Amino acid sequence: MPETLFRKVWDRHAVRTLANGQTQLYIGLHLIHEVTSPQAFDALAERGWPVKAPHRTFATVDHILPTRSVARPLVDPMAETMTAALERNCRAHGIPLFDPASGNQGIVHVIGPELGLTQPGLTITCGDSHTSTHGAFGAVAFGIGTSQVRDVLASQCLAVSPLRVRRITVTGRLAPGVYAKDVILAIIHTLGVGGGAGFAYEYGGDAIDRMSMDERMTICNMSIEGGARIGYVNPDQTTIDYLRGRRFAPAGDAFDRAAAWWRTLASDAGAPYDDQVTIDAGRLAPMVTWGIDPGQSVPVDAAVPRPDGLAPADRARLAEAAAFMDLTPGRPIAGTRIDVAFIGSCTNGRLSDLREAARVVAGRRVAAHVRALVVPGSQAVAAAAAREGLPDIFQAAGFEWRHAGCSMCLAMNPDRLEGREVCASSSNRNFKGRQGSPTGRTLLMSPAMVAAAAVAGEVVDVRQVALAGASA
Ligand code: SF4
Repeated sequence: MPETLFRKVWDRHAVRTLANGQTQLYIGLHLIHEVTSPQAFDALAERGWPVKAPHRTFATVDHILPTRSVARPLVDPMAETMTAALERNCRAHGIPLFDPASGNQGIVHVIGPELGLTQPGLTITCGDSHTSTHGAFGAVAFGIGTSQVRDVLASQCLAVSPLRVRRITVTGRLAPGVYAKDVILAIIHTLGVGGGAGFAYEYGGDAIDRMSMDERMTICNMSIEGGARIGYVNPDQTTIDYLRGRRFAPAGDAFDRAAAWWRTLASDAGAPYDDQVTIDAGRLAPMVTWGIDPGQSVPVDAAVPRPDGLAPADRARLAEAAAFMDLTPGRPIAGTRIDVAFIGSCTNGRLSDLREAARVVAGRRVAAHVRALVVPGSQAVAAAAAREGLPDIFQAAGFEWRHAGCSMCLAMNPDRLEGREVCASSSNRNFKGRQGSPTGRTLLMSPAMVAAAAVAGEVVDVRQVALAGASA
């Protein structure tokens, strides 16, 4: 019987079906960080339990880490306490910790793939909802809460309900200036922020086939913003080429054997899907969110939507968003003044993202009223960018170049909006208060679009600014 990758991986990790219909699922890789693990470790300590599989558990520090200086003790006592707790727990249980001294610290969803920990066919959990990122490799990867972090630490298993699978076929060639970020924003806009509830999203089609692993990670990363706990891409040659030679990937003959097996995990021709959707990416323009959820987006050359013809609930949501954002329905989104430009996060803090943004800012200056920062997704990304001279380009333009971390994606560290500031951001959430100020406003877009906005001081179409010869 033809099967989807989701079903193949799920069934291979199913320990048993529980009385309530859930599956006891074995977890192949558990990634932890400083924010959602302390209480989980405390729960184990209260019972005197060990970590079941420390060799399948890897840690880093990302959410609370300041990006100006990582000198210890950290200035924020809470951040220092959480970091110290992670260090203590990792030492006690023999869990590898990628801290700043390791040279491999970074956002958990950036370092997993770049270290080769993330591999096809794994079940992967982490106490962060953007764990869906790792599905780009053909893994079944999903975010969990602190009590589930405890469960995985204690048993390496989790009780979870199976999902249906929606195949999203993305066709067409992306136009210059249009990126994976625009594709996933368009998908979320089309299917809705709750449209993926109960589904795993399988992304395929010629547009996905052509994408790099960085681009596929951007797509899978934001699956959760469309309500899908899991997003994945079937493993192919691009996946295999990315993983070859990575630190934790198999080596030598074992890699070739693994690669042959990974290929068998891809969804079979004729596999049954619970739903199928096709998106023509060749028609997309750069996208910008105008509202307070990632589904409230428009092409950069369009206007903030009007309420005409909407259902009452949608009208109310639109009115709430427009009022909070102080945007007028019917007015173009282009020209919206920004105060802050943020390039980073697990969605768009990888080397290819920084390259594209640097192409836009090279030889230009950030607008005088804009505070602009680049935060690499990992120390490895920062080092690779430095080898290409990207920090110099950004700093010459007036950007701040920071240490790796989550930074302004969620502002659990000193990087945050003040008051009613408007931020052009390459991150993944534009909820009220997400970037640290309860009244701060977030406009999600691609890193290249953020770069263009930083220079213009307002939302602007990157295609009109600086993309001669750029690739999508
Ligand atoms: S960058 Fe944002 S979404 Fe990603 S792991 Fe950090 S806080 Fe979570």
